Amino acid sequence: MKWDYEKLTQILKNKGHRLTNIRLAILKLLLKKQHLNINGIIRELKKENDEHKNINVMSVYNTLDLFLQEELIYLNVFNGRDIVFELSNPVLVHLVCETCHKVIHFSEDMHLSDEDFQDNLKKLEEKLQNADFKPVYYKLEAHGICISCQEKEGAHKVLLGRKRFK
Ligand SMILES: [Zn+2]
Ligand SMILES: [Zn+2]
Repeated sequence: MKWDYEKLTQILKNKGHRLTNIRLAILKLLLKKQHLNINGIIRELKKENDEHKNINVMSVYNTLDLFLQEELIYLNVFNGRDIVFELSNPVLVHLVCETCHKVIHFSEDMHLSDEDFQDNLKKLEEKLQNADFKPVYYKLEAHGICISCQEKEGAHKVLLGRKRFK
């Protein structure tokens, strides 16, 4: 499932929520940038739009609460510290770089349609249901080293190697 502005606003409308400026601004922001914490969201809103310069922080909290309640967004914590927000996605693998702490989305379109992945998920779901647990959504994370850190590390090793030769 891929969110777009139309789908998101339609859901809010269908549920009888008013499309206030702050709600629309936060939706647009989350479509563009994921994994922002509350301060990041406020900072970006101020940066993007003059009318949000004197933003009411409470209304940002309330908007995020509403979106959470309607399951448009969910929370994540990748660095063990900051709560970050992003548009909800029932199956999405997050790749977390342990070196630079970058968080990457593992190609959503590919694995959502991937049959093996879906089969395995169904099997897991059966097992969970046998254990009297009804899964609603999954949070999958792979921790490792991103490509740019791998390259840097490679360069670092080359440098060390050269030093040794001298
Ligand atoms: Zn990295
Ligand atoms: Zn994410």
